[in-house]
Amino acid sequence: MGSRCAALIVGVIVAATLIAGFVAGAQRDDRSGPVDLVILNGHVFTGAGQERAEALAVRGNEILRVGSSREVKQMAGAATKVIDARGGTVLPGFIDGHVHFVSGGLGMDRVNLLDAESLEAIEKKIRAYAAGNPDRPWVLGRGWYYSPFPGGLPTRQQLDELVPDRPAYMTCYDGHTGWANSAALELAGITARTPDPADGVVVKDPKTGEPTGVLKEAAMGLMSKVLPQPTRADRLRAIRRASEEASRLGITSIHEAGTGEASLEMFEEVRQSGALNVRVYAALSVIDAMTEADADTFDALRQKYASNPQIKVGAIKVMEDGVIEAHTAAMLAPYANNPTTGHANYTPQELRRIVTMMDRRGWQVMTHAIGDGAVRMTLDAYEAAAKVNPAPPAGRRHRVEHAETIDPADFPRFRQQNTIVSYMPFHANPTPAQLTVWTTNIGPDRSARGWISRTMQLEGARQVFGSDWPVVALDPRLEINMAATRRTADGLPKEGWLPDQAISLESAIENITAGGAYASFDEARKGRLAPGLLADIAILSKDVFAQPPARFLDAVVDVTILGGKVVYERVAR
Ligand SMILES: [Zn+2]
Repeated sequence: MGSRCAALIVGVIVAATLIAGFVAGAQRDDRSGPVDLVILNGHVFTGAGQERAEALAVRGNEILRVGSSREVKQMAGAATKVIDARGGTVLPGFIDGHVHFVSGGLGMDRVNLLDAESLEAIEKKIRAYAAGNPDRPWVLGRGWYYSPFPGGLPTRQQLDELVPDRPAYMTCYDGHTGWANSAALELAGITARTPDPADGVVVKDPKTGEPTGVLKEAAMGLMSKVLPQPTRADRLRAIRRASEEASRLGITSIHEAGTGEASLEMFEEVRQSGALNVRVYAALSVIDAMTEADADTFDALRQKYASNPQIKVGAIKVMEDGVIEAHTAAMLAPYANNPTTGHANYTPQELRRIVTMMDRRGWQVMTHAIGDGAVRMTLDAYEAAAKVNPAPPAGRRHRVEHAETIDPADFPRFRQQNTIVSYMPFHANPTPAQLTVWTTNIGPDRSARGWISRTMQLEGARQVFGSDWPVVALDPRLEINMAATRRTADGLPKEGWLPDQAISLESAIENITAGGAYASFDEARKGRLAPGLLADIAILSKDVFAQPPARFLDAVVDVTILGGKVVYERVAR
């Protein structure tokens, strides 16, 4: 008690002295008590085009001062935690603008094949998991790519060899194809006589007629029926593990893209236990043929979390189309290699009805719209709502999720309507495995408008970046690297994919920090490093601005701070 009081007095004297030297009106009240945390000797990012600071001071959960190491050091008392950034970059904590946190966490308990680029790597990972988890009744995994397999598809025999003793099932990285072993097929009752379901294919050996183990699209539903369902305990553990993983990667806030009351309760349970290391902005999954009564229940849920310190409900998530890879994204004109224009889940009238109803109640609408047809339909719906409803106090900030290819006529509409383009840059990671099918399906013109961050920036559109984990990796550095270099982590292709669409490292970082804060109406609370804002901070191991953007991935997260509390510190720092 005594030493704490002494520290307090020292802090008061130091702070009072400092006040005399700093008349800047932006600084918060420096006179009450010592600071709790200082970060020294860093390159503190204070915004694109702004001069970098060296240090910052935190009191409670807020940033008190951003300045030089010399002045901030003087604010430290005996009880102040001091973090030496050792010349690294100090950033606002990353805000993942689009993620599926619970499924991501659940996936951490399964085989992850996203980084297995060869057949050997795939086999090694599955074998290791099976050996390490002998008690699990199923071996489940996801994330395999088509390219390592001869002919582009795996077989059940390959999986039988890796997992001979129990059912095993692995979904493809794009979520559109499943790979089962013989035991899994047997449990699901899939045989040579199983017919293809509508919109799906049970792939069969042309010689024997036996199923090969590959299930495409709706045929995956035959397997989902027999897969073990995660329990409530599994889901709670998933949130905890995902939360730990987020801290390891410098993420301090997430936008959960499509959730409901039960998941929110689990987030809250984890928060109360002290293990929720992220701030959650939740988008509730829209209900089919949603009525005003349904909207009332959404309003009540929003109200229930209105004063929650970490969980906020503010958006609804609408799925308007599918994906380009499966010809299910809604396009304005037919696909390049297929006469279809894809599939819109809602008619323009129905989409407009739902958007208008929720817009009137002050909800943000997040619409998954990948094809240029779905993007236009979404912009039309937002525009229609704005015509009939009064503007909400904070303004309209509806969002288009993915927007993978946009028709040029719609470029300016984002700025005009203040609609946010929500990109997941790592979906465009330019490996042949990831982009070939995408570009082939829509042809060169529409491909050239893929993830056009630079164009949209010039058009004055607001952007937010997200991962879409577990569809791709959670690491925000991968999104930043892709947006700033248009290359893979290995620097390929050398010339970059649509290199003119690269944005500056500063802009890429802002899209996944300040952009995310704006997209959840929280720009006055977080997303930047400035006095009065929440002390949500990520410290990187290097000064990323002193090197070319292509070297960005050399830097790793050293420390993550949430509301002034250190939630991660790299051991080998
Ligand atoms: Zn998503």
